[in-house]
Amino acid sequence: MHKGMLVVVSGPSGAGKGTICQEIRKRNPNLFYSISATTREKRVGEIDGVHYYFIDRQQFEKMIANDEFLEWADVYGNYYGTPKKPVFEALARGQDVILEIDIKGARQVKKTYPEGVFVFILPPSISILEERLRKRGTDKEEIIVKRMQMAWEEIANCDWYDYLILNDDLETAVNDLEAVLTAEKLKPKRVNYRVLLEGGVLER
Ligand code: 5GP
Repeated sequence: MHKGMLVVVSGPSGAGKGTICQEIRKRNPNLFYSISATTREKRVGEIDGVHYYFIDRQQFEKMIANDEFLEWADVYGNYYGTPKKPVFEALARGQDVILEIDIKGARQVKKTYPEGVFVFILPPSISILEERLRKRGTDKEEIIVKRMQMAWEEIANCDWYDYLILNDDLETAVNDLEAVLTAEKLKPKRVNYRVLLEGGVLER
């Protein structure tokens, strides 16, 4: 069986990567969505084990020591990390995996798993990004200021990604991401074409 494809989606907070990932999951129910562990406080409406695994710093540091993360990073003073095991299990089953992580984490994955597909979501403008963050109303002023500084830096350093998707219109952005997934899956390294040479049947 062919291994699944690892797709890494990042972009500044407020760029809409969460919504884009939700929509792409609706369109591709077989995509495996990795649930991160974090030490940040749960927001209203978030569920442990669905949006994140909410754990304390001690538990997180233990997981780091046990090498349980594919990547992890300190984002705005909290730890965030991708548990390695479920991701590699899904890939081994042939399932495609999507990670929604920050740029520092994405860089680590690029180093350890360069065959991944790296996608960066861009907002239409910095001021629209700020407007979206304020409308969301989940963060204190100082956090918003931090997030805006980070956003600027992230956008300034996004040229190493494989694809940049502009999120000015959700539907178009999701279509673009779907096009990326389709194109990537058609690369020779991901097509089991050799099966034809052995008289077998090539399946999608
Ligand atoms: P939020 O607190 O808004 O849910 O997420 C803050 C930032 O952390 C976002 O950019 C999000 O993509 C990122 N993030 C979420 N999970 C992970 C993870 O497992 N690893 C890394 N490196 N970043 C993550």
